Amino acid sequence: MSDLHYESLLIRREGLTRDLPEGDNEDLRWVTNSATLIFGDHEAVLVDTFTTVAQNEELIKWVKDHNRRLTHVYLTHGHGDHVYGIGQLVEAFPTARAIGTSGTVAESRLQAREEYRDGFWGRLFPGQIPVPVLPEVFEDDHFMLEGHELQIVQTGHTDTEGTTILWVPDIRLVVAGDVVYNETHMYMAESTPESRMEWIASLELVKSLDPINVVAGHKYPGRTDDPATVDDSIQYLTDFIEAERTTMTALELYEAVLRRHPRRANPGSLWGAAKKIKGSPITLPRK
Ligand SMILES: [Zn+2]
Repeated sequence: MSDLHYESLLIRREGLTRDLPEGDNEDLRWVTNSATLIFGDHEAVLVDTFTTVAQNEELIKWVKDHNRRLTHVYLTHGHGDHVYGIGQLVEAFPTARAIGTSGTVAESRLQAREEYRDGFWGRLFPGQIPVPVLPEVFEDDHFMLEGHELQIVQTGHTDTEGTTILWVPDIRLVVAGDVVYNETHMYMAESTPESRMEWIASLELVKSLDPINVVAGHKYPGRTDDPATVDDSIQYLTDFIEAERTTMTALELYEAVLRRHPRRANPGSLWGAAKKIKGSPITLPRK
């Protein structure tokens, strides 16, 4: 049996929330997405794609440079910045099946709708969003790569509903999608007090696999795939929960979390969540 290896491609893009309060984090107002290729001697599996046509063209070139037959594109969850490249990828690699769980496909279907594709993403990246193609629903909980098992682990509601990670036991690799974040503000805008607890439980589950490498869907360039990012993500959620409980306004929540995590990339994600959870940024009288 051949050995498996993995490599990730990181591409930086503008964040989605761009009306941030003034602060000394202007150099951090961007976010990096990752796509990961797991490969043996002859075949490869790609995990996740990118947002724009140009980014996905770069991804295709990078995959081709690996000279392996692509068998699958696995989508960890249905957010547009992970699934919008499916059409370009399956066209470039006709041997590959794009697959996801029913939860991933349901969210992808939502993100393919006009209000998301054109109204939301298209407004932030005008003329750059590909024509959405849905992954096929994959019913099984694993698939194979050159005799090695790739296991799909359901992680419930983390940064959105119906998320997953891909676990490769033979090389103790977790490709974590948006369950784990690497020195980047976590996307809390779709979370509720209940789902934040669910997210922590899923991170505990990732930890219990005892991985050697954990690739985060959003990763600060230059960082390693240290499994300590799982604990960091638990800490971020714990701090967010505490800050949400002890603050009144969006600005207070934003500043409270920033105080504990001042150098993570993409503070816009935190500001977007703070506004959504606390309402418009006006100062309310304290009780
Ligand atoms: Zn996501």
